[in-house]
This record gives sequence, structure tokens and C-alpha cells, in this order.
Amino acid sequence: MDYKYSQIQEVASKLKDPELLKTKGRAILRSPELNGLFSHLKEMDANNRAEFGKEINNLKTELTEILDNMENESIQLDPIDVTAPIDKNVASDKHPRLLNSSHGSKHPLMTELDNILDIFYRMGFTALESRQVDDDFHMFESLNFPEDHPARDDYDTFMTTTGLIAPAHTSTMQNRVLVDGKKLLDEGSPIASVLPGRVFRNEDVDARHGHTFYQVEGIYVDKGINTGHLISTFKTFLEEYYSQEMELILQPFYFPFTEPSFEFVLSCPFCQKNGCNVCSYSGWIELGGCGMIHPNVLKMAGIDSDIYTGFAWGFGVDRLVMMKHGIEDIRHFMAGKLEFLRQFS
Ligand SMILES: [Zn+2]
Repeated sequence: MDYKYSQIQEVASKLKDPELLKTKGRAILRSPELNGLFSHLKEMDANNRAEFGKEINNLKTELTEILDNMENESIQLDPIDVTAPIDKNVASDKHPRLLNSSHGSKHPLMTELDNILDIFYRMGFTALESRQVDDDFHMFESLNFPEDHPARDDYDTFMTTTGLIAPAHTSTMQNRVLVDGKKLLDEGSPIASVLPGRVFRNEDVDARHGHTFYQVEGIYVDKGINTGHLISTFKTFLEEYYSQEMELILQPFYFPFTEPSFEFVLSCPFCQKNGCNVCSYSGWIELGGCGMIHPNVLKMAGIDSDIYTGFAWGFGVDRLVMMKHGIEDIRHFMAGKLEFLRQFS
């Protein structure tokens, strides 16, 4: 009997050898030495068999624990740098492909907006971006649209249930600029601001009309300002922008916030008035609205309309850019198509 127990000790000291455990791993639990011990069981009586079996199982448990500990130690991984753009523990051919910065470019509308503002900066204007959500006072009331006036119908846009408005024109900024600019007038300086921004219309979308587009508004107020200043300012801008001499005429129009009001019409920069598909073979292109600021709009901002006069205009940036680059459909600007955008990169 003792001989058999000493066999367990012999097998135990052999199998617990760290080198052997490392090379054999869990196969050691099925090794012939261990199985050989079990074969002695059938030669024993019931009492000894229970005792001997318990000893073998103890050895097996002990070996399993040693193997568990060895495995836990070996699972330790290299630390991961969570701020790295790639997982360094992954093979380099499995790294995600990062986009090259040359794949993106500035949107043509933004490039041209910068060009437009640059010209006005050089003419002495400052710029203030219009808001994309505004209120009824700035959209209508401050611009001489009384409540329920039918002229409001021409500015069909979107409104939230709480009464906030997605502005249909950048003129929403006029009252703010006039109120802030009053101190400039007191100091003897003019108010000269351009107001670029995004505007929204409830529009039947087609090649010439979008529900979302950009406008550049401009206002100029000082003593003795008249329509001649308006025409010369805008003619200077257009000739600078299109790098050519242009004819500009004003057609009578109606806006509640200017009096008199006009629509700009300029000679077609593509055909020099000979007629082409850009100008619908008329030689002329309608570009936007303008006029002398209505005395009520000045009064609403606390400016004395007997002393000061001014002009204001608004034109669509999209249309100006379409004419510059010969773009036939306004919807290209919002479509996000790379074939279109890459032409301007
Ligand atoms: Zn033309």
C-alpha cells in the first residue's frame, strides 16, 4: 500500500516541474503517469480505493491550479495608447486607412463669399453674419411690415411652433446694425455694413430656386446719401467681382423697407448683351433688390430720418456664383456631390 502512495509523490514531483508544465500545458492532466495511477484503483478494496482516489484527485486539482496561475500570468498584454489614431497591437496592414487632407476642399459658395466680403472690406464695410433663427420683430416689424400686411406673403418661410422664424432674408439684421451704429453717426462716421448669411424660403425647388441659399445684405447710412451712391457702390463691387466693366440699371420695384425701391438688372457678363442661355437671350440679368432705407426703418432704430439717409441692398450669393462659374443648377450647391465640388478644389 505504502508503495502505491509513494508512487503518487513520485508522479507529483515529476509533473510539477515548471519546465514540463510550460511545454505540455493542460495535456499534463491527461498524461500517462497520471492515468497510470488511476489503474491501481481496481486492485484495491473499497476503503483504500476511496482514500487513494482522493489523493490522486488532490494532485489533479493542484496541477490544474498551477496551470491556471501560469495562464493568467501569460495573458498580460502590452499597454494600449488610447489616444493613438490606430491600435498598435494590430498588424499594420489591418490599420484603418486615414483620409488624406487633399480629399476635401472649401465649398465654392464659401470661397466666393470670402471674395465678395474681401471687396466690401476694401471699400470700408464691416461684416456681420445674420442669424439662422430669428423673431417676428426683426423679420417683419422692424422693417416696416405691419402685422397682417399683405407684403409678408412674399416672404413665405418656416416657423417653429413657438414663433421663431427661419429668416427669409438677411434684412433681419438691419435693425440691429442701425441701433448699434447710431453712436458711429454721432461721432461723424457712416454706418457701413454687409450682412452675409443663410436664408430659407418655402419654395418650389427648381434649377433657379432653392429652399436654402445665401444672401449678402448691405446698408450704408450717413448725411446726404442718395440713389447715386447706391448705384456707384454696387457697380464698383460688381466690376471688381467679375473683373470687367458692367452696365447696371435699376427697375422700379416694391419693398416695404425701402423707398424708393428697385431691382438691380445688370448686363450679362457672358454675352455682353448679345443674348445667351444664362440671361435667357435678353442680355440682362436680374440680381437682387435695393433702395433707399425707408424713414420708418431708421426711426424704428432711433435714427433721425430728417438728418440721415441711407441705402440698402440684398442679392443672392448662389446666383452670383452660378453666373461667375457658369453653373446651370442651384441644387448642385446643396447636393454634396464630389464630382461637382472637386471642380473647385
Ligand atoms: Zn447672356
